[in-house]
Order: sequence, then structure tokens, then C-alpha cells
Amino acid sequence: MKTYQEWQALRSHLVLPNQAYINGAFVAAQSGETFDCINPTDESLLAQVASCDSADVDLAVAAAQASFRSGVWSEMAPGKRKRVLQKWADLLEQHQDELALIDTLDMGKSISEMVNIDVPDSLDCLRWSAECIDKLYGEIAPTNSQNLALISREPLGVVAIITPWNYPLMMVMWKIAPALAAGNSIILKPSEKSPLSALRIAQLATQAGVPDGVFNVLPGFGHTAGKALALHHGVGTLAFTGSSRVAGMLMQYAGQSNMKRVWLEAGGKSPCLVFDDCNDIKAAAKGAATAIFTNQGEVCIACSRLYVHSRIKDVFMAELLNAAREYVPGDPLNPSTKMGPLVDKNQFETVSRFIQSAIDEGAKLELGGVPEYQTGQGFFMSPTIFSQANHQMRFVQEEIFGPVLAVMSFDTEEEAIALANDSKYGLGAALWTNDLSRAHRVSRRLEAGMVWINTWGDGDTTVPFGGVKASGNGRDKSWHALEKYTEIKNTWIRL
Ligand code: NAD
Repeated sequence: MKTYQEWQALRSHLVLPNQAYINGAFVAAQSGETFDCINPTDESLLAQVASCDSADVDLAVAAAQASFRSGVWSEMAPGKRKRVLQKWADLLEQHQDELALIDTLDMGKSISEMVNIDVPDSLDCLRWSAECIDKLYGEIAPTNSQNLALISREPLGVVAIITPWNYPLMMVMWKIAPALAAGNSIILKPSEKSPLSALRIAQLATQAGVPDGVFNVLPGFGHTAGKALALHHGVGTLAFTGSSRVAGMLMQYAGQSNMKRVWLEAGGKSPCLVFDDCNDIKAAAKGAATAIFTNQGEVCIACSRLYVHSRIKDVFMAELLNAAREYVPGDPLNPSTKMGPLVDKNQFETVSRFIQSAIDEGAKLELGGVPEYQTGQGFFMSPTIFSQANHQMRFVQEEIFGPVLAVMSFDTEEEAIALANDSKYGLGAALWTNDLSRAHRVSRRLEAGMVWINTWGDGDTTVPFGGVKASGNGRDKSWHALEKYTEIKNTWIRL
């Protein structure tokens, strides 16, 4: 891992892409408009980036459609497509420090997380998806002997992908790797808060041999570029990661336009349950702190609701506060920093309002509180913990997307399950117990797409990632993600 000084030196040479990427080339937005990309650590201007709208969407869709219909990628032998994607992964690996640096500057997450998690996970996802694609066999249906029925998987066509800012490279890769591996032509609209790494990897994709028009990137706002993509009749499938509010709007846009298929990975308010049979309270407290303060709490699966058995509540709280104090906000380019600034002023103000509402509604502040903002000093916020919270409080029900934790207690397993499920979301859940039967029993009854036992957030490319209820309907990673970017066709032949 590079030192702080080495990251600073790399930063001084960094050339940031700032145009849209359409048909294998960087281009300005048709309107000539740009938006500012701000570094949340010092509020300096990083880049002025092309602000795409419906005119650029039309161009990108035309390029994607033309490349798809030409068969240059969609009909390329899967083994060959695999080799192009592997070459791309090698190129990304050669540029891994640059990619890590871009996301840290763009959205404030710690460089050590970028180096240890986001970049290797993204590379793994790309290599895994590439490796799978020439192993995806079709089926022959068990018909009578006078007929032959083939069931095959085909690429979908033009896929639009809309992503959030909290894990810029990784959220993008979880979608574009399987979508490209399956032979689709894609148009990516990264978040306007962190568009830079997406632009750089598109350029490297062309260098690796991904044909022009197959991978297009449109930086821009949700209500302009995003909405135009979601309403476009030339887009066959829309894959989205972001808030549940926008996810609902995308379903409407699909209904208003061409009934495009919509895959949604949306928000969360994940519970963490700590049972009194947990025999390593210190480890559980550390795990609970990791589950909310990682990435400044800007994590979809953040366990922002913590339920502790009343018998161990006090000793647990003491350990939790110790663990939380290790998250000291600081310059994310410093490799020892565990917590950077929040992504922007808007997010800083939203999270501050949630903290104030928790105080107003009578929760007991145990750590942190409403942060002070000083112009030009970045959007830093300390870990904040409330006890004596309850489900009538707004900050317990709504996704905050910041380092704010509500601690509550329970007396029985039944009560713990009911509290955990009392949420419109159903993304992740964690539970700490040493009773194997309880672990399975509770896991089955939790309304969540992912459950972690005696850990939080672990996983790799082989397991699906996604939720239920208002947390969405799709899954990233694993075979299930590949399947979601293919269409099933059957061909019936009279012999
Ligand atoms: P967001 O919904 O505000 O934005 C997500 C993307 O949608 C951005 O690119 C944005 O420009 C675009 N968008 C906004 N309005 C749009 C519109 N009207 N039409 C089309 N596109 C539009 O979310 P965010 O603030 O970027 O990200 C945070 C959210 O993402 C949180 O809710 C978090 O839980 C969620 N998230 C979910 C997962 C998951 O896997 N389930 C992973 C990461 C983040």
C-alpha cells in the first residue's frame, strides 16, 4: 500500500476524464453543459464534467443499438468475448492505484478500503463473469420423440445501467461485468456525485478490444440523463442501484414507455440482532460498529438498527462505544484513515437533520451528535449512537445513509424477529448468536435478501447480493446476475 505522500504524488499527475463516452470516444454533451465534481475532503473542484441529457441519450442508444445489431459483440463467440474481458481486467489491474485514487477523491471513501475492497472485488467480479460466459449451456426439453425443443439464452439487447455514488467502481462493475459478458450493448449513467472512474474504465475497455458502441457512459443528472434513459423506447432493459424512491419512479417510467424490464437494487435499513447467548460480546460489538460506520455509514446494507438482548445491554453498549471511537474521521488519502467525509454538503445536511430529529424525538445521545460545518473544511461527521430509540422515531424507520446508529433492546427471540421485520426495507440482516439452531431458525424468518451470522457484509462474487420488499427485486453477482442479463428463447422443431 502506498504512503500518504505517494498518493499525493500520484494525485498531482492524475488526468481526470470529463466527457461522455459514446461509440468508443470521448465527446462533450450536445448542449455543451457541464457540472462540477467536488472533492468532499477539501471541497476543491476536481473536474467539470459533461452534463448529458436526452440528446446525448439518443446518440448513445443509437450507437448501442447499431453495435448490438451488427453482432460485433453480441454474436462474438463467448470464448472470444471472455478473452477481451480478461484483457480488460488485466488493464484495470495495471491501473488499480489510479482507479482507487479517483474514487477516493470523487466521493471521500478511504483509500485503504478502495485498495483492499472495492478494486479487488471489482476485478474479481469482472474475471468471474468473463469466465462463466463460455460455460453457460442451453437445454433440450424432454418432449416426445417427434419433436426437438431447444431452450437457449440470448443477450437482451440494449441495457441501460444507472448507479449510485457510494461504491462508484464496485456498483458499476457488479452490473456492467455480467451485462457485457452476456453479449449486451450497454449505456451506463453513473451518479452525478461520482462519475469519474466509470469514464476511465470505459476508455480502458476500448483499449482491451470491446468494440465501439458496446459500452457507452453518460455522466449527468437523474432527472435529465437518467430519466431520458428510463423512458427511452430503444432501451430494452434497465438495471438500477440506488434509492427506493427513485426505484419506484423507474418502474413508472418503464410502464409509461415500452415496458422495459427493470431490475432494482434499492435502499435498506438493516437490523443487527445480538442474542444473550453470544459468547464474544467484544467481537459482536466490533462487528456492530463495522456494520454501521464502514464507508461513513454510506452503505446500503448498513445495520443502522441494533437490537441487543436486555440482559447484556449495558456491557454491550460499553464495548460498542469503545469500538465506535476507533472511527475517527480524517483525510481518506491517509492509509490509516477508517472514515472519510460524507459525499457532499447535501448528504451532510440530510444526515445532520436525522440526528437532530432523533434528539427532538427523545432518543438518548451516547456518542457524536449534530456536526459543525466549516466552509471549505470538508463534510466530516463523527460516529453517532443513540440508545432508548423506538420504532415510532423517524430515524429508526427511514434510511439515513450516514454514520448514525439506533440501539434498542429485546427480551425474546420472537420479539427480536418482529422488530427486525418491522421495516419497509428487506436488504440485509445480521445476527450474533452461538446457538446453531437459533441461527438457522431466525435466519429463515428474517425478511431480508441476505443474512450474516456472527459477521456482517461478507461475501464474494459467487453469492448473490440484493433484497426483498422496498429494497428491490434484482440480484447482483453470481450466476443469478448473469441470468438477469439474458433472455430465454425456445425453438420447437418438428422432426
Ligand atoms: P439515488 O436513487 O438518488 O440515485 C441513484 C442513481 O439514480 C443516480 O445515478 C441518479 O442520478 C439516478 N436518478 C436519480 N433520479 C432519477 C430519475 N428520476 N430517473 C432516473 N435516474 C435517476 O441514490 P444515491 O443517493 O445515488 O445512492 C444511495 C442509495 O443507493 C441508497 O438508498 C442505498 O441504499 C442505495 N444502494 C443500494 C444498493 C443495493 O445493492 N441494494 C447498493 C448501493 C446503494
